[in-house]
Amino acid sequence: MNVILFGPPGAGKGTQAQLLAKRYGIVHLSTGDMLRQAVASGSALGQTVQKIMAAGTLVPDDIMIELIAERIDAPDCANGFVLDGFPRTTPQAEALDAMLAEKGMSLDHVIWIEIDDAILVDRISGRFNCAECGAGFHDSFHRPKVEGVCDGCGAREFSRRKDDNAETVKARLEAYHEQTAPLLPYYRSKSIVETVDGSTQISDVAGRIETILEGV
Ligand code: ADP
Ligand code: ADP
Ligand code: ZN
Repeated sequence: MNVILFGPPGAGKGTQAQLLAKRYGIVHLSTGDMLRQAVASGSALGQTVQKIMAAGTLVPDDIMIELIAERIDAPDCANGFVLDGFPRTTPQAEALDAMLAEKGMSLDHVIWIEIDDAILVDRISGRFNCAECGAGFHDSFHRPKVEGVCDGCGAREFSRRKDDNAETVKARLEAYHEQTAPLLPYYRSKSIVETVDGSTQISDVAGRIETILEGV
């Protein structure tokens, strides 16, 4: 099963993608995570994208397309994947279609997590992740079951993203509305878009997505 989770920054794409990966045994492909790893490693790619990410604008399409093309080629993706943060522009969507067609693969679902901008700043300012396994949490909405301990792996170190500040969020929301939201009609024309209300609780959003994926 190949799924795209689509929505603005803070909508809950990463949270839901982690749940789907576990439930269906598919690979979670987060281009944001891939880029952050490149920045942390200090690679040439990391050096190129660091400032762009800090500003909250989009990394050029050719870089993103190459990054995802390489990743989708790996054997673990043959079993299915959930894309989180890609595609973000029309050229990225077209390139994805072309690479999947070449492999005889296709997209099964595009889930649009619909949510009001007003909610997103709170979501993003409270976000933190396990430094070990990447599991996502929130200061108010999704605290670890045991204070200070990751639910997923038991680690005690967490990290916050440098770009999760009010100023950068504004730029990221602008990029979403101008460059990413126009993808909806592109996928709508293929009749694979389903909309879920992203303002409800994490478990409710997850239930809604499962219903869609299981076709009931
Ligand atoms: P995205 O990947 O779309 O940017 P995340 O999944 O990282 O979004 O979610 C942003 C923040 O909001 C995280 O701290 C997450 O724990 C929290 N969150 C995600 N979904 C919900 C929800 N339905 N209700 C409340 N908080 C949520
Ligand atoms: P969020 O979860 O808040 O939506 P991401 O982690 O997906 O944010 O992305 C963080 C940053 O990485 C973006 O602001 C952008 O600079 C860059 N990025 C990630 N994916 C893409 C993409 N597909 N195209 C261009 N830039 C991207
Ligand atoms: Zn962890």
